[in-house]
Formats: sequence, C-alpha cells, structure tokens
Amino acid sequence: MDSKQNTQSYQAMDRQSVWHPYTRFSALDEKPLPVITHGEGAFLYDSEGRKYLDAISSWWACNLGHGHPRVVEAIVQQARELQHSILGNLSHPRAIELASMITGLFPDDRRVMFASDGSCAVEAALKIALQYWYNIGEADKTKFVSLDFAYHGDTLGAVSVGYLDHFHKPFKGALFPVFQAPSPCCGTCAFHESESVCLNECFDTMRLIVREHAHELAAVIIEPMCQGSGGMRIQNPEYLRRLAQLCKDEGVLLIADEIAMGMGRTGRMFAFDHAGILPDIVCLGKSLSAGYLPVSATVVRAPIFETFRDKPKDHTFYHGHTFAGNPIAAAAAVETLRVYEEEGIVAQSAAMAKVLAEELSPLAAIPGVRNVRSLGMIGVVELEDNQEGDGTRRAVRVRDRLRENGILLRPLGPVIYVMPPLITAEPVLRFLAQAVGKAIRES
Ligand SMILES: *Cc1c(COP(=O)(O)O)cnc(C)c1O
Repeated sequence: MDSKQNTQSYQAMDRQSVWHPYTRFSALDEKPLPVITHGEGAFLYDSEGRKYLDAISSWWACNLGHGHPRVVEAIVQQARELQHSILGNLSHPRAIELASMITGLFPDDRRVMFASDGSCAVEAALKIALQYWYNIGEADKTKFVSLDFAYHGDTLGAVSVGYLDHFHKPFKGALFPVFQAPSPCCGTCAFHESESVCLNECFDTMRLIVREHAHELAAVIIEPMCQGSGGMRIQNPEYLRRLAQLCKDEGVLLIADEIAMGMGRTGRMFAFDHAGILPDIVCLGKSLSAGYLPVSATVVRAPIFETFRDKPKDHTFYHGHTFAGNPIAAAAAVETLRVYEEEGIVAQSAAMAKVLAEELSPLAAIPGVRNVRSLGMIGVVELEDNQEGDGTRRAVRVRDRLRENGILLRPLGPVIYVMPPLITAEPVLRFLAQAVGKAIRES
C-alpha cells in the first residue's frame, strides 16, 4: 500500500473511532487530520512524509523535542528491567532518583507525590491542602481562591479552580464554589491604562478576598508568571511576590501550578523563580519527562508533609493512582533532568528567549495585531477581536496557512502563540517567528 492509501485508511478509521480532545466536529468535516508518524528534534512528520515544525511542543510537553537518544535509551532499558511496580508500601530506584532530583531543585525540604497527568497533580495538591488544615485541627479551612482565566486541568476539582465559561458550562452544577480573583495580565488587558494600575487593582481585589475569607481558605492556586490556556496572560513578578507574602501573613497555602510554565519554559527552571518566592505546594507535569511518558508530581513543603503521620491519630493521605511514579515514566524524567543539567537547557531557553522577543516585536505593527508579548520561550501575537469573532477566525486562517507551510500551532481564540521545544535552533526560531508574521499579514 502506498503512503497515500495508508493515510486514507487511517483517516477513515480515525473518523469512526477516535474522540479527539478539544476538537470540534466541524474541524473533522472540513479536512482529514494529518496522521503524525514520527518525530525528530523540533520536527514532526506525517504519514505522507510531510515535515512540520512542532511550534507548540506537542501541547507544551516536548521541551527536548522528539526522539532524544538519551531519553529513548533510558526508556528502553527501564522497560526491559521493570515496567511497573507500585509505590504503596514498596519502592523502586527510578522513583527514588526522580523524587530526590526534584527535591534537589528546591532550597527547602520537600516531599514528592507522583501521578501521571497534570490534572491529577492538581487534584493531589488541592486534597493535600485540605487535609493539611484538617490534620492541624483547622477543618473549616476548605475553600480555594483562583484567578479568572485560570486553567488547572480537566478533572472536576481542577475545573472547579479553573473554570472557563466557554469550556466548562455543562459541568457548572457539579463544581465546588471557588473565590475568583481578577487575572493580573499586567499590561495586556484592556481594562487598565497601565501595568502598574493593573497590578495594583488586581492585587487589591485578591488581598480583599484573602483577608476577608482567611478563616475558611485552604489555599490560593495560581499559574505563576503566565496563565496558559486562558490566553497566555503574562504577569508581573511583583504580583507573585505580594501574593506569596499575603498568603504567609494570612495563613493560607499557596499552590503553584507549574505544569505548563515550569521546566525552563520561561527561561528559569520554575516560573515562580522570577519572583524569588517558594510556594507551599508545586505541581509539575507536561515536560517533566520531556513529553516522553505521562508523569506528574506534587511537590510539598516538609512541614506540611509532617502533619500526615498516623500517630497519635491516623492522618495518612489515602490517595494514589495506579501508575503513580511508574518506573518507565520515572526513568524518562530522570534522564530528562540529567539532560537539562548537562546541556544547560534552562540557560539555552533564556538565551533563545531574547531571539524570540526580538523577532516577534516588529509584528506589533501589522494591522489587526492588538498586542505582542513574550516570556522565555513563549511568544504571543494577540489579534484584535470583536463580537463577531473576526480575530478568532483570522487566527484559524493563520493556523491553516502555517500548517500548509509546515508549522504546527493551535491558537487560543484570537491569541496566536508559539512554544517551541527549548532545543530549537536559533535559525529555526527566527524562521518560525518570521513565518508567523508572514501568515498574519496574508490572512
Ligand atoms: C495542561 C495543564 C494542566 C493539566 O495537565 P494534564 O496533563 O493535561 O492533565 C494543568 N495545569 C496547567 C497550567 C496546564 O497547562
């Protein structure tokens, strides 16, 4: 069978059997989806041999690109040795190594609870916060504060703290109530005349909520520095500094969801490093294993962990997933962290961030572009939109045009963004930014 026939038969089977996440039926009716068969470096290849630049790191997970020989070898070796063993009343070398490498990234004492998906790391963080207060006799502290435009995953608890109207309306009745503070999209939102006004007003509302409700609050949860799915809304680090201090003063835990922005994406290992803070609970996922296998982690300050003893009372955390800390996934993450260290991936991200910002800035002059912004290896071009959604439709045209030219990305409404692998070579990064500019001009 030639590759064309092969592709068509896959596409026909796909239409009959796969339920694609976050994909409208109409997208399937218009054109069959490309069938991606392999990857190498920053590039993906489809079943007909077409080459695409993976400009969103396959949903922000593949920071080392595709087919990294060291990570692949670590997976193969581990699969031969031990594919799975549980962490309930047992342990195994890769989970131990990974947990100690993760805690080694923090200056204070921490413990690591593993899961597979980011959403599960968030669920664990929420439950740990709740049970911590229960453990120390403050069982009334059961509520959470999150930000407008937050996204923390698709399980019900994560949706409760990350409610987005256009995604989650059908589930509203099953969600728990959460206090929502304004999103500090400093300098990019249309509501404030300047970054400092935005910072002050957004933080003032957060402070009012936290002060008034501290007695019933378990935690504040935030995506530090940049809210991803809510539209790549970049914060001023001063907001985080003030928030961390506020939480400390008011006796409320701070949960940092670093699932998208951690692992060097913003030019620092963790996004909260930009503010010099240390959140009580940190969620990691996506690129923790550079996108090779699903593994996530909830990293908890030791004094919180210490309250989960079973004596004199049983405060054990009765929580866990079948594949938590799976040996093969952990092996991939261990090797990923070694590559990060040995190859200076975070420094590389910071260096390439300058190139990305420089290449994107002229795009602000294109008619219909509302705002150009960047942080680390996240580059954003937001189009003007209106009630009719003209900007959103233009972004879809840009996406389609780029796909035809061998670049894969996925706008969020009118927000066109790139989050390429951190190992993307400088000329490729420049080519990407220029291609985005060209596609916007022509769409
Ligand atoms: C993707 C994401 C999650 C959810 O992770 P999954 O692995 O998709 O469950 C949670 N928080 C943030 C900030 C994310 O970007």
